[in-house]
Amino acid sequence: MSFKRPRPTDNAVFGNSVTGGSHEPTYGGVLSFMRRRYSRDLTGVDAAVLGIPFDASVSNRPGARFGPQGVRRASAIFDGDPQYPFHADPFEGLAVVDYGDCAFDYGRNAEIPGCIEAQAREILDQDVHLFSIGGDHFVTLPLLRAHVAKHGPLALVQFDAHQDTWPDDGGRIDHGTITGRAVREGLIDPDKSIQIGIRTHAPETCGLEILYGEEVELLGVNGVVEMIRDRVGDAKAYMTFDIDCLDPAFAPGTGTPVAGGLTSREALMILRRLGPLNFVGGDVVEVAPAYDHADITSIAGASVAQHYLGLLAEKKRQG
Ligand code: MN
Ligand code: MN
Repeated sequence: MSFKRPRPTDNAVFGNSVTGGSHEPTYGGVLSFMRRRYSRDLTGVDAAVLGIPFDASVSNRPGARFGPQGVRRASAIFDGDPQYPFHADPFEGLAVVDYGDCAFDYGRNAEIPGCIEAQAREILDQDVHLFSIGGDHFVTLPLLRAHVAKHGPLALVQFDAHQDTWPDDGGRIDHGTITGRAVREGLIDPDKSIQIGIRTHAPETCGLEILYGEEVELLGVNGVVEMIRDRVGDAKAYMTFDIDCLDPAFAPGTGTPVAGGLTSREALMILRRLGPLNFVGGDVVEVAPAYDHADITSIAGASVAQHYLGLLAEKKRQG
């Protein structure tokens, strides 16, 4: 007696298209980012999602190495159908694959930045848009190097509770120094860069504009969006979303939580309104599922990624 599947499952491995929804049960099946096909063949692909399970550079709680798994699991709900707030299935027109996780040897820390950069370049060299899932925030530094090799210096839009500009002679593997390093390496133009949600004070700003946590509330979503758009203009930009930008109520599962942060609604509303920006790449980092409750933080991280891809899809639809 033969069995006919009532509906397809496990699109992550058995799917035969890199577009379209998969409509699988949220609770089962092979996990991938938003039920996308796993593939390293980027023919006809618009965007690739890369997991970077690295968390050896944290100053407080480790655990973001489980971020890619947590975000993939939480993203299963976004497997097709019109997605809020875009009124459209992003995968109708946008071909996206899950590229899997970045490979590196955890016992050879000094080699890891090069591994991350090389695998990012592998994707970017094929003119495919890259969105990465950390990992702690250190991963953004080699990701920026890869993007800058292709596009030249970028504007940085950084959502974070921390400036990540602590002193660094250039030799550290440290999630708290990456933005300063990026300025000193000439990867980002500080005059076109902005940090949103900051709730700590580092010794120097390195020239970036800062919107503190309380300013976000005082300005409101539209005011924040206007400031970001004014600062970045039409420059090529990179979006990095440290999940600790959100208040611990909305992102308890992270390594360096700080009270007084954004709600997930505020952050997503801001992101949704950044469509006019010229993003060439982005990431969401610092999701540490072991400290999470009811997947709150993984859901927030997956939603950030879903919004980012939603903007890309919208841009493609509008030509
Ligand atoms: Mn950070
Ligand atoms: Mn942070």
